[in-house]
Amino acid sequence: MMSGGSWFSRFRRGGSGSKSSTELDCDEVRASGSDYIDEECEEEMHSRIMEHLGLCRDCDSWLKSLAQTVGILRETPEMQIPESTMERIRRINRSK
Ligand SMILES: [Zn+2]
Repeated sequence: MMSGGSWFSRFRRGGSGSKSSTELDCDEVRASGSDYIDEECEEEMHSRIMEHLGLCRDCDSWLKSLAQTVGILRETPEMQIPESTMERIRRINRSK
């Protein structure tokens, strides 16, 4: 005696392996890249970008280089480089 066997099948997931509708394309990732680095984008967007970076090497390396550039700019906010340091840098460049 089986009762209510059909409703149960509704809980089964169909179409596994299809692309999720939340997947970003490269343009969207790059448009939100700086927000992502600043952690100013929404939580949902943040995880969607992370998801894309896991799949897309181009965007992953693009974002890494962007993060580096942003980091360097922040670490040197109109900082005056001492003349002695500049001299050392010039010497290193010359010896190359
Ligand atoms: Zn991409």
